[in-house]
Amino acid sequence: MKILTVIGNRPQFVKAAAVSRLLREEHEERIVHTGQHYDDELSRVFFDELGVPAPDRELNAGGGSNTEQTARILGLLEGVIEDAAPDLVLVYGDTNSTLAGALAAAQAHVPVAHVEAGMRSFDRAMPEELNRVLTDHASDLLLCSTETAMANLEREGAAGEAHLVGDVMADVSLAFGPIAEERSTALADHGLEPGEYLLATAHRAGNVDDPERLAKLVALFEALPGTTVLPLHPRTAASLDSTGLRDRLDQAVTLLPPLGYLDFMKLAMHARAVLTDSGGVQKEAYLVGVPCVTLRDTTEWVETVEAGWNTLVDLDADAAVSALERPMPAGERPELYGGGRAAERVRDVIGAYTPRP
Ligand code: UDP
Repeated sequence: MKILTVIGNRPQFVKAAAVSRLLREEHEERIVHTGQHYDDELSRVFFDELGVPAPDRELNAGGGSNTEQTARILGLLEGVIEDAAPDLVLVYGDTNSTLAGALAAAQAHVPVAHVEAGMRSFDRAMPEELNRVLTDHASDLLLCSTETAMANLEREGAAGEAHLVGDVMADVSLAFGPIAEERSTALADHGLEPGEYLLATAHRAGNVDDPERLAKLVALFEALPGTTVLPLHPRTAASLDSTGLRDRLDQAVTLLPPLGYLDFMKLAMHARAVLTDSGGVQKEAYLVGVPCVTLRDTTEWVETVEAGWNTLVDLDADAAVSALERPMPAGERPELYGGGRAAERVRDVIGAYTPRP
């Protein structure tokens, strides 16, 4: 089968790292990089470290508002799909590249497979939520990470064929965790002792675009005890600079540039806790057995909350401090995300797929 994979930002490079190698054992895959993230820190390092095959096409379509960006990628993908004439278009997650890829393929009558289908925060103010819902309803193959996602699709009456495959980011985390442990010198590089620091990330539009919310986020970091390390996403850096809040944050935490996957994993594995508004990082914290405090009031990864490893605090500083004092849940962590075999299942489901006439 000829598969055209559309990727464009950091978490999608991680997801493709799990799937592309396996897909290529049985299929002919071409990768289009939309350019949503294009800098070395958010893009190239993931191709290099995780062995994602080099893109066959680069659209350089980053920048602009969500609507402009989606429209630009959509327009460019029309020609790419026409040239490549794929049997299937594969998209991941919930970004503008995901929606544009799914819609361009559906318009061209090419079947669409969506990895990480069915995730819902039920917050339509999140651009990611719109992208998820619309992508799922344009997709033919809905490849779900969790039972919750399967139930969401069933409730919405999504027309595509849904399969529970597990989570491909979990595959990467399980495969690369030991490599990060061995190779990364991030702890020593930043003078950190295992278990004695907090690792944070923040870049959701809802937390960093509005100056009032950003000021609350900074106040939350100021309230945290001990050392907090924060690799700064460029979106957050730009908002901090335009609001003049960077100095305050710089006093409160250790700011780092965005890290490569192995260094980030190493810091996550040895952190006392993780604070984040990222979906992927909530899952990864669970997988490495580190408590997570989520800087949002909703999550798609509800199982991590139910298992007692993740607490939603939005931007409430007191709630964040108390969540950090909670004892870790006793006993084994349930296996929630497919045990590292999700990409194999994605390959098998795609291989067995016969488009409906
Ligand atoms: N990540 C990374 N370096 C960092 C921050 C995150 O490698 O400095 C990785 C993280 O391990 C996860 C992915 O990037 O695999 C998550 O991406 P992001 O938070 O941008 O996306 P989201 O999950 O919020 O969509």
